Amino acid sequence: MRIWKIIIVLLAISVAILSILAGCSSKQTTSAQDKKENHKAHAVAAPVSQEQKSQPNKIVYLTFDDGPGEYTSQVLDILNQYHIKATFFVLGPHAEKYKNLVQQEVQEGDYVGMHSMTHNYKTLYVQGQFVNEMKTDQQIIQQITGIQPILCRPPYGSMPGLNQKLRDQVAAAGLKVWDWTIDSLDWKYNKVPFSKSVPAIVHNVLSHANGNREVVLMHDIHPQSVQALPTIIQGLKEKGYVFETYNEQEHFSLNFWHDNRL
Ligand SMILES: [Zn+2]
Repeated sequence: MRIWKIIIVLLAISVAILSILAGCSSKQTTSAQDKKENHKAHAVAAPVSQEQKSQPNKIVYLTFDDGPGEYTSQVLDILNQYHIKATFFVLGPHAEKYKNLVQQEVQEGDYVGMHSMTHNYKTLYVQGQFVNEMKTDQQIIQQITGIQPILCRPPYGSMPGLNQKLRDQVAAAGLKVWDWTIDSLDWKYNKVPFSKSVPAIVHNVLSHANGNREVVLMHDIHPQSVQALPTIIQGLKEKGYVFETYNEQEHFSLNFWHDNRL
């Protein structure tokens, strides 16, 4: 009888020990599973953020020079249709003539910058009137919109006209200068049938749109530019571009001289 009692007590103790051990190990398994689950959750989340890092939004700035003009309202209609904004570099005399269009551009969230008064190479660069003309243009824009912009687009581009001396003046005046990364060459196709000009302009833009940040030069004073615009927008969208307008708070330097003061 004693032996049986001892055996039963020993059995009870060993069962108790086993059940305690089993409890511990099952807890460990659970926590290990928890860890695995957590790890899985991270593993699922990680590739998304990596993807976002390796494929940042490609940004394109559509810019229109020389306006406003008789085709500008069509350009604005197309931009509205696609819910996108653009940047307009206006000539002072044209802004005076089409004040309502300059106001509409600003009201619709487009940026309006300066493109000089005369658009004359000799006057701007040889006679050195660049800053004077941009300041006059700036005053005209301010009178029309209440906004004093700082960004100019140099007629014919900053190279070679905007020499060191003129760039010093631009920097001292607190103005900024933007050239472009893609020239649509839309002005070249005046009096060419749309059947030829439109595909050429579209090709000029889309074939060069390969970078993460592109600034496209167009003109809102030519009918062929308006005709090409919807296909250009669609093509850029298909290439993954997001459309933005110039923002003074997020200025980045873009001039052919690589002068980062401008
Ligand atoms: Zn121009």
